[in-house]
Amino acid sequence: MKVKVLRLGHRYSRDRRISTHVGLVARAFGADELLMDVEDKQLGESITGIAQEWGGEFRVSFINNWKKFLREFDGEKIHLTMYGINVDDCIGKIKSSRKDKLIIIGGQKVPSDLYELVDHNIAIGSQPHSEVAALSIFLDRLFDGKELGRKFNGRKEIIPQERGKKVIEK
Ligand code: SAM
Repeated sequence: MKVKVLRLGHRYSRDRRISTHVGLVARAFGADELLMDVEDKQLGESITGIAQEWGGEFRVSFINNWKKFLREFDGEKIHLTMYGINVDDCIGKIKSSRKDKLIIIGGQKVPSDLYELVDHNIAIGSQPHSEVAALSIFLDRLFDGKELGRKFNGRKEIIPQERGKKVIEK
């Protein structure tokens, strides 16, 4: 099962930090690719630079027409929104399918037709918070927490310590 994250509504300078966090969380929590509906080379280079150092196969791509992409996506389309069905009421069914997943998160207000174009509108609690928090909790539920133990086989690797920092470089 491949997992992709589509981040809609990125605004260049204003959202660069949070969109970078979306990419880093997607990678660290088990997704395979970040897709953006606007091209931001600086953002792409920053995330892929980290992936090159710390390992894994994570990719960042830019798409011109997200509605066409959504329509043609062969798998389950999951929009994270505070207005949706609570994650605990639907994650069992979503996990039982091995179909590829496309997780869609917004920034500013998302277009209203998005709600109709997806298979699931899912809430991580029915309060407004953040795309980074929503994505991390959804991925953690999808992978049952096992994503945190995944090996990335990067050039750099942290050896966990009670105190201090230990990093080996290969
Ligand atoms: N007012 C905006 C709206 O109408 O969607 C909220 C934007 S919020 C800052 C940015 C993104 O975070 C949303 O598009 C959604 O993907 C995600 N998000 C925020 N709260 C959420 C929640 N409780 N459950 C699921 N996703 C959430």
